[in-house]
This record gives sequence, C-alpha cells and structure tokens, in this order.
Amino acid sequence: MRRKGLASMAAQTVASTTNSVDLGPAAALSCRECGHRVPLGPVFACEECFGPLEIAYDYSAYETEELRKRIEAGPANIWRYAPLLPVPADVADKPNINPGWTPLVKADNLARELGVTGGLYIKDDSGNPTHSFKDRVVAQALEAARAFGFTTLSCSSTGNLAGAVGAAAARAGFRSCVFIPHDLEQGKVVMAAIYGGELVGIEGNYDDVNRFCSELIGDPAGEGWGFVNVNLRPYYAEGSKTLAYEICEQLGWKLPDQLVVPIASGSQLTKIDKGLQELIKLGLVEDKPYKIFGAQAEGCSPVSVAYKAGHDVVRPQKPNTIAKSLAIGNPADGPYVLDIARRTGGAVEDVNDEQVVEAIKLLARTEGIFAETAGGVTVGVAKKLIESGLLDPSLTTVVLNTGDGLKTLDAVAGTGLTATIRPNLDSFREAGLA
Ligand SMILES: *Cc1c(COP(=O)(O)O)cnc(C)c1O
Ligand SMILES: [Zn+2]
Repeated sequence: MRRKGLASMAAQTVASTTNSVDLGPAAALSCRECGHRVPLGPVFACEECFGPLEIAYDYSAYETEELRKRIEAGPANIWRYAPLLPVPADVADKPNINPGWTPLVKADNLARELGVTGGLYIKDDSGNPTHSFKDRVVAQALEAARAFGFTTLSCSSTGNLAGAVGAAAARAGFRSCVFIPHDLEQGKVVMAAIYGGELVGIEGNYDDVNRFCSELIGDPAGEGWGFVNVNLRPYYAEGSKTLAYEICEQLGWKLPDQLVVPIASGSQLTKIDKGLQELIKLGLVEDKPYKIFGAQAEGCSPVSVAYKAGHDVVRPQKPNTIAKSLAIGNPADGPYVLDIARRTGGAVEDVNDEQVVEAIKLLARTEGIFAETAGGVTVGVAKKLIESGLLDPSLTTVVLNTGDGLKTLDAVAGTGLTATIRPNLDSFREAGLA
C-alpha cells in the first residue's frame, strides 16, 4: 500500500518536470519488469507493477566509427562517454567531480601467482576523486538533480557513497545531508564529513538507513531532496556502465572474456552488463560471449547463497563482515544479478573475512595496489573461482578494485614495522636486515 502511494506521488512530479529536461540521449524511463514507459523524472518504481525503472535511450543517430572517434577525442574522464549517458551534451563544462578513466592494470605478477595465463587485469577504481567507484554514479545523479531542480543531495550509504555525495555537492554548490550506519570505519566517516555537508549516523544497519530514507522521501521534510540512490536511482545506476565502456576501450575496443565484480545492491554488476550489451549493439566491440562473476563477503552473501541454492529470489541477511561497503543484506538488484550470472555462464561466490584480508595483502604485494575490503572480496573470489575451476585461467579476466585501502585500514591492522632499530649500522645488522 505504502509503495503504491509513493509511486503515484512520484508520477505527479514527472508530469510537472518533463518538458524542460535535457538529459542528452536519455529518452524515457522504462520498467525492467513490464516495459511500461514514463517520461524522465525523479521516479524509480513502475506505477503499473512497482518494478525498477531504468533509462531507455535513443541511440539511433549514432554512426559507429564517428561515435568511436568522438569518444576517443573526449576528456580523460567519464564524460568521454557522454553520448551514451543520461547527461546534457555540455556536461563536461558544468561543475562536477569528473571521475573515471582509471587505470586498467595488467597484473602479470598476480596472474603468475594465481596461475592465470590468458591475461589478468585489475580495473583499479581507487584513484577516483573520493577514492571509490561511487564517484561515477554520483556524477550522473548530480546532473539529474540539476535537471530536476533539486537543491539538496542526499543518500543512504554504506560509507563510500556518503563521501562521493559530499564532494559532488560541494563542487556543484548543493546542500548535502547524507545518512550512514553509525558504526562505520573512521576513514569513511572522516571522508564523508570533510566536505562540509551534514552527515547523520543512524542507529541500525544499512537496510535500516535505506528504509529511513524511503520514508523521508515521502515526507514534506524531504521535499527538494535528490536521494542519489533512491529517487534518482535510475540515473545514478547508469554511472556503472562507464566501467564497462572503459574496460573495453582500454582493451583496444574488445570485450574481456571474464569479469569479477563486487555486489552490494547489485546495481554495478547489472549496469556493467548493460554497458557491455550497448557496446555490442552500437558495433563498438565485436560480439562474443563473456562471463560475469559476482563477488560477496561470506558475512553478507545473500546473492551468493541464492545462486548456489539455485533460487531466483534472494533471502535477506543481517550483515556481519569487515567488507562494510558491500554490506547490504537486502540487495535491490539481487534477482537481476542471478539472471546475469546464469545467462552469461558466470557464477556468484563469496569469501570469508580472513580470505578478504589475505587477498588485500596479495594484491598489494604483487601489484602495488592497496585495495579496500571490497577489492579484497573480488580478488579473493577470483582466486577461489580459479581453484574451483569456474574461472578459466586461459581467458582474459578483469577483476574490479572499487575502493582505496586507506579507507579500511582497520582491516589490515597489525601490518606495520618490520623492526625498530637504533640509528646505526650495528643495530641494522643485529636486526638481520643486512
Ligand atoms: C557501493 C560499492 C560497490 C557496489 O555497489 P552496488 O550497490 O552493488 O552497485 C562496490 N564497491 C564499493 C567499494 C562500493 O562502495
Ligand atoms: Zn512495470
């Protein structure tokens, strides 16, 4: 009942905002379940069936080689793909945090360690402006917020999103007020607070925070607020397509054979698949099979559990893991992740906290990349999938690192000095370092 009220209220907002909206090639919102179309607006649920809405595009004007040249001549950030995103054509001139075009690192040392012979790459998204992949999605939501006339940016966050929203709001001159579980890592709390917006800790886990935000949207107190991952979710989600675009462009406009992607709500994984499908349809890459593997932490593994049990529905869990950025116990896109893993011939796997820490250290030791716990999850899962034979080591494989290890230092506490010595050579020798 409550959801129906929300959906019809949101539909009214659309009617009043449609005509003036310029979001580039975005043509409408369409329901992922029933295909029902509504005009672009700050709506996220279908008024017919309550399914999730996503952006439908009109790409008909593009000629493949012209589009490729236009992209290659674009800026070294996500706006090189502006022709494929729900943003106005002059987006690169607007104040935004301009994330993306992060390195695709050929990880030969890690490949040797894991026995991968077909080419192993880390898509290292830790170098974004607020040190996680979330800058990609927030950059889209910010443009939608501008288009719809919102003045406050908000979100429910497991940590990284709060920082990305704070930074984007500061750059673009929006007020921000973001909500996080009260017990997050200090690095993420400071990172979210430093940009000067309001940061509210909620006594509860992420799913409680998210429920609270849904209530706030339906209340007069939330008027004029763009919640990047709730009422702006269809726009927000499109930012993850840029990971797919970049990976393929950086591989020389080729699809990888296998991708290992982290799952929190599952949005990123579903949109990476959408991005790959678009590149195929636009002729920018040659069509061939690819497999998408989802990665979770054992302490929050609702999608992995459903995958292994052969279920289509995802049973919510109460998260308990050090991989807090992925700790969504009731993932909105879980069922779609299951579809994609099964359709592409991938899988969903999980690793325990100890394996997460081992994987963080393995990646750092072999490739000089310090990943946050989410990166430990993907590298750990890749290792496990190779060992179990589900991931083919003879194929080109891309593993995502979506965040920076400096944000989750607690996870590797105890890593420190090799020795403490007096400042002389005898002491150095005594310590066995010569
Ligand atoms: C949010 C997040 C993800 C993925 O989130 P989805 O909700 O599945 O899109 C992955 N890694 C990190 C570090 C994140 O913060
Ligand atoms: Zn529908």
